[in-house]
Amino acid sequence: MSEDILKTAYSAEAFRTEGHKLVDLLADYLQDTMVNRQGKVIKWMPPEDAAAHWATLEGNTSEIFQEVLQGSIRLHHPRYIGHQVCPPLPAAALAGLLNDLLNNGMGVYEMGIPGTAMERFVVQAVAAKMGFGPTADGVLTSGGTLANLTALLCARSIKASQPIWKSGSNGQLALMVSAEAHYCVDRAVRIMGWGEEGIIKVPVDARFRMRTELLEPLYQEAVASGKEVIAVVGSACTTASGSFDDLEAIGRFAQSHGLWFHVDGAHGLACVYSDKYRFLTAGVEHADSFVMDFHKMLLSPTITTALVFREGAHSFRTFAQKAAYLLNEEGSEDWYNLAKRTFETTKTMLSLRPYLMVRQYGDALFEAYVTRVNDLCAAFAEILIARPGWEIATMPFCNILCFRFIPSGSDASGINAFNARVRQALIEEGGFYLVQTVLHGNTWLRVTLTNPFTTLDDLRALLEAVERFQMPLHPHP
Ligand SMILES: *Cc1c(COP(=O)(O)O)cnc(C)c1O
Repeated sequence: MSEDILKTAYSAEAFRTEGHKLVDLLADYLQDTMVNRQGKVIKWMPPEDAAAHWATLEGNTSEIFQEVLQGSIRLHHPRYIGHQVCPPLPAAALAGLLNDLLNNGMGVYEMGIPGTAMERFVVQAVAAKMGFGPTADGVLTSGGTLANLTALLCARSIKASQPIWKSGSNGQLALMVSAEAHYCVDRAVRIMGWGEEGIIKVPVDARFRMRTELLEPLYQEAVASGKEVIAVVGSACTTASGSFDDLEAIGRFAQSHGLWFHVDGAHGLACVYSDKYRFLTAGVEHADSFVMDFHKMLLSPTITTALVFREGAHSFRTFAQKAAYLLNEEGSEDWYNLAKRTFETTKTMLSLRPYLMVRQYGDALFEAYVTRVNDLCAAFAEILIARPGWEIATMPFCNILCFRFIPSGSDASGINAFNARVRQALIEEGGFYLVQTVLHGNTWLRVTLTNPFTTLDDLRALLEAVERFQMPLHPHP
């Protein structure tokens, strides 16, 4: 009996049948959603209702797949304009199926020979694209959050005056970063035990870029108060408004004090692939390390992140005080046992998705995509500027834009309340998906134009939907 259930569950024929059904289901989804623009972007359901539905749902494999598809937010819909994750390339999703069935765990070389070799290729291609030399190297890891923490652990290992890996830390280490940086940098600082004193937040200018002229005085102040500043982090770009720090200026400052220069380019370093927008990344070549997500602007399914070091040898110091014990018999670091340099022990074959795209299209696919979504965002900003009743937080740098509607006669809190309510109403209705953010204490609508088939007509339709929205006279509590 128990042998029967195992044989049935592993049946190759059942897999073939279910697999073909699933691919048909997903191909129909792509055609209906991305091309024919049918259906809603999101089928809103309150959390308690969703929990109850999924706790009692019954069905076989294909019925459950159907249910998941029906209930899920649709990133391939051109009116998905919300969070930064992209509608992944269909071929990259097929790579996911291959990956999941093979389950090559990647911790050591034998557990993922193709995955390890492809990872080396992808990391080195990205390093070269950023202007790093032949000694650069790095890893793929599970997300920008983890990649930033890993980079900062490496920075600490190289720059801190105490051997912290061995003896723990006494003394106040600190790093400098824009006040608008992603919260994961703050979190990394606290995970490392530096506390809130360990993060020196540099104020931003009117376009939400780090005010680099303040780096020197803030540094002097920190040193005078007894802090050991070891690193400075540039944002390329910030998450809320998509603003790119001046990486050249930050690099010069870092060099003048011997600080580690890290670039959080989770979202925006992808602009390096576009001839038109590459200028935004200028200065990254001076960084000691950078991170770049493939699942934000480079068409990969979540979650695929490159963490690259200008001196690849540094990456072996992240989880060790000295690299020596990692040396193999020939006396060189064994680049191919990747878990020595990643937070993860077991990790999925992350490399296959970007490898596949680069092998098939070169950089042309990324170039076309990045240029398309950034151009669309610039055109949307022009529409908003010209349209009565609307304002933008700042001209966009890439595909992120914050904007809001100013209902006539509203005060500041009325404007905030209107924009928050209209967003909630829109996602409950399901025709669009966008997000909101807070900048300088005010609520803004925020879009990431991540779908290359979104048009200006879609965006005009969004503005009309907001303009039609009436605040309820008696807001329910
Ligand atoms: C998205 C983002 C992160 C977090 O990356 P995950 O891949 O979601 O972990 C970090 N920094 C910036 C600037 C981001 O935009």
